[in-house]
Amino acid sequence: MSGTPRPTKSEQLQATDEITEVAPGILRTQLPANITGLGHVNMYVMEDDRGVTVVDPGMPTKASWQALQERLTQIGVPVRRVHTVIVTHSHPDHYGGAERIRAESGADIVTHRLFRTFFDPTEPPDLSVEEAATFMRSPFDPPPWGGAPMKMEFGRKMRFRVAGRIPGLLKVPTPTVRIGDVERVTLAGRQWVPVHTPGHTADHLCLFDPESGTLLSGDHVLPTITPHISGLTAHGDPLTLFFGSLDKIAAFSADVRISLPAHGTPFTNTGERVEQIKQHHHDRLDKIRSVSINLDRPATVNEFAQHLFSARSQGSMADSEAYAHLEHLRILGDFDQRDVDGVYEYVIRH
Ligand SMILES: [Zn+2]
Ligand SMILES: [Zn+2]
Repeated sequence: MSGTPRPTKSEQLQATDEITEVAPGILRTQLPANITGLGHVNMYVMEDDRGVTVVDPGMPTKASWQALQERLTQIGVPVRRVHTVIVTHSHPDHYGGAERIRAESGADIVTHRLFRTFFDPTEPPDLSVEEAATFMRSPFDPPPWGGAPMKMEFGRKMRFRVAGRIPGLLKVPTPTVRIGDVERVTLAGRQWVPVHTPGHTADHLCLFDPESGTLLSGDHVLPTITPHISGLTAHGDPLTLFFGSLDKIAAFSADVRISLPAHGTPFTNTGERVEQIKQHHHDRLDKIRSVSINLDRPATVNEFAQHLFSARSQGSMADSEAYAHLEHLRILGDFDQRDVDGVYEYVIRH
């Protein structure tokens, strides 16, 4: 018997056709998504004298494209007036409609300089060795900690494999503008400060408009949930990378009047939200410490994942996130790691 139903998180709500002005001249529209824990993607729409800019044009699905066209019709702008598509990071729920919009309107596709999907064999230009290490490894290869590779239905797996060679298949966009370390970038008639925020992905980009105090926060800072941090990178410590990216936002959060996330309701308590997300990971690190003390023996990544995540969340993503936390603790000097026939085991140091 379950008691009162758990309150629904705003990221989980199904997409509606409601359109609201969430910041001066910025409309929030919602596109359908059915990914675990997510019911919609926010596509923000900004008009200027040249036409329209959209941010994160949804999933690469028919339903999403249909909804995208309907939302633009509601606003009264045809797809051909979209001159810029901003994609916050290389996940399909964010780039899905980008290439199709470009095909119809010739729009620019703007991403961070490091934009690349995990199945794309080509590397972005001017990549440093450190940057290359922040990319996600293929989840189809055996993971570094010695667990089983990601389970994926065969057809889907093949689509990813082929898509690495034929990007059109999964509608992976080719960015026309890759933003590097510049102070300002003009988009949708505004001057934005680009903030590279690696952690959730290597190429995550937030954009801040100091004049209106508006932050496009993508999946980096969400209203109630925390983004997945994958241990499947060559970077030794993706959690430290993510903490660093949270600090970047914290540094100017007092100037953020509103954050516009890619999922869920826009929020005004950005500084507080950043602290909550950090705290969530610190709590998880504490939990790992107490699990190890209780077990009183070295344990595998999967064993830790079983203590950290609910039964329905178990799987390769749970293992990958547990690994990111265990490696963080090992690098801090709190944990020892040993390799037992290719399977890593971790134990707290006494
Ligand atoms: Zn994402
Ligand atoms: Zn997302």
